[in-house]
Amino acid sequence: MDIIPTPESSDSSQNATNLMDMVPAAAASSSVPSRYESQKRRDWNTFGQYLRNHRPPLSLSRCSGAHVLEFLRYLDQFGKTKVHTQMCPFYGHPNPPAPCPCPLRQAWGSLDALIGRLRAAFEENGGKPEANPFGARAVRLYLREVRELQSKARGISYEKKRKRPPPPPPQLPSHVQLGDDHKPFLG
Ligand SMILES: [Zn+2]
Repeated sequence: MDIIPTPESSDSSQNATNLMDMVPAAAASSSVPSRYESQKRRDWNTFGQYLRNHRPPLSLSRCSGAHVLEFLRYLDQFGKTKVHTQMCPFYGHPNPPAPCPCPLRQAWGSLDALIGRLRAAFEENGGKPEANPFGARAVRLYLREVRELQSKARGISYEKKRKRPPPPPPQLPSHVQLGDDHKPFLG
């Protein structure tokens, strides 16, 4: 996930509604309901704004799963998660040691949480469950695809959400003895 820690001090009165602001908050998987509610409202406003700016114009009632996918792809330009291409030497590395030119995307976890909130917001705003574009099969398939792709590209399993244990400290091969009278690396 795109976890971007928010300093406690700036956390109290966020009322910006722009997209860039959405990203860090979307990633903060807080369980405090009010926070979820305000994030949901913000996401809903963002989607409404997206519809208003859509060319050709698009109303909520005509919005389909395909439009939701369009929205998710549009959000990728604001993503902060490096997703390696198969050509990249860091493909499959969760913590690459150097920069690479691979694209930044929205992390799967952020998209998944976003869709969950928008799906709820749609029905809370009078939408019919059977017409909910955020619950469309195409959206589910797309999220599954993104999860697959990102878990392979980034070497991170998204199936289990627990934290990985830290890697063991590097160990010298057992035949290498450290000593003043020894130059192990010259063989
Ligand atoms: Zn890369």
